[in-house]
Amino acid sequence: MMTTHEHRSHQHDRPHRHHYDEEMLSVEDARDRILSYFQSLDSVDVPLLDALGLTLAEDLIAEFDIPPMANSAMDGYAVKSADVASASKFNPVLLPVDGYIAAGDVPEKPLSNGSAVRIMTGAPVPEGADAVVPFEDTDEEERRGDGGQITEIGVNLNAEDGDNIRPAGEDIRAGETVVKRGVDITAGVIGVAASLGKTSIEAIRRPVIAIVSTGDELLEPGDERQPGKIYNSNAYSIAALVEKYGGISRVMGIARDSIESLESLLEEAVEYDMVVTSAGVSKGDYDVVKDVLSKNGEIALWSVRMRPAKPLAFGALNAPDGRKVPHLGLPGNPVSAMVAFEQFGRPAIRVMLGKAPLQKPTIRATLDDAVYNHDGRRVYARVDVYKDDVGNYRARSTGNQSSGALHSMALARGFAICPDDVSSVPAGSDIDVEILEWPDDDLLSDDAHH
Ligand code: AMP
Ligand code: MG
Repeated sequence: MMTTHEHRSHQHDRPHRHHYDEEMLSVEDARDRILSYFQSLDSVDVPLLDALGLTLAEDLIAEFDIPPMANSAMDGYAVKSADVASASKFNPVLLPVDGYIAAGDVPEKPLSNGSAVRIMTGAPVPEGADAVVPFEDTDEEERRGDGGQITEIGVNLNAEDGDNIRPAGEDIRAGETVVKRGVDITAGVIGVAASLGKTSIEAIRRPVIAIVSTGDELLEPGDERQPGKIYNSNAYSIAALVEKYGGISRVMGIARDSIESLESLLEEAVEYDMVVTSAGVSKGDYDVVKDVLSKNGEIALWSVRMRPAKPLAFGALNAPDGRKVPHLGLPGNPVSAMVAFEQFGRPAIRVMLGKAPLQKPTIRATLDDAVYNHDGRRVYARVDVYKDDVGNYRARSTGNQSSGALHSMALARGFAICPDDVSSVPAGSDIDVEILEWPDDDLLSDDAHH
């Protein structure tokens, strides 16, 4: 999104450029390599209420007109327009009232010349009627005061052919393709499917993603605290991202830093569409993860030119049924794991769900705090994003940017992105921000919150 204040602060505070390490993979190259392992999954018949957000895998074709019959758009009187051509406030036309049609009724007989039928919104218009005069343009209210049945009505306005009548097929015609396969299933699409009488639709199924944590230091939340140990947070933050982006998460538990332990968890994990592991991919202790995964498939360890989340593993595991199951090996540091999942796991889910585009949307925002880039990697800085008094987006650091500091991640609404070859973006400059959470208030500034 372009903003009007884009060029404001660039003159004096030009970002400073330097060279980046070409040995490392760029985020884009890593993403391309990873995505080449994924394809859109098969489609299934999904009950309407479970289909929201999925990709439609069939054309929705109407078998009948909607509305199925001409019906009234107002509460009023169905008439022949010719009968009320001379009607006005001062010269009303009086017509005998010949019946009452409510929504859901079927008219018993055609409208005869020189008469009116009382009709409700959505009720079928009787044959012969070509207009509906709303109550407001009749003397209905005065007559209703009498309490008795209305046998005669005064029409105060000349109606024209078609007034306040919704013709059959006005919305959708029989045979028409209403929604094409490939689109996102929104509330509106679900409404259309229901109006076509469907209880389910063909949609690309959700990927099921196994999440395996590794590390001798990990306890599960709920376990009693122990010296030297920390709680396993990665499984839960990553499972939440899987669900947020449309997948189904299967949290498999903790593998210890041993071959047997990891192998036994992977046995079940390879039954799913994708395996995500965390930790064991940085220098020191990745050997177990690497050995187990290369023994049971193929794995590459990459350095990706990004901060956080430089170390990344990716490969494919052999499942007993012959499938090759993509494996994303996230770094162990809690923020690194989440940033890497946003950049690589999210687009993989989107490919499996049959969706594009793969990249997260960004906005331009003005920095309250500088973002530094020490070593030529793309920096994803955790920021809060808000709109200032004049409607410009601003981004402020949410605190400690260490890759283990999850606190600042919990407060972040976006990642401010310092390009690989820029050593710092000063406060007051504009920067691209990937929005993690776009709230319903359009990021309006909230003094209580800041
Ligand atoms: P590693 O990649 O195994 O060297 O782990 C890097 C850092 O991430 C270490 O400080 C680990 O304790 C931490 N870590 C690894 N796995 C998890 C996890 N599941 N939850 C929270 N922190 C973790
Ligand atoms: Mg470890």
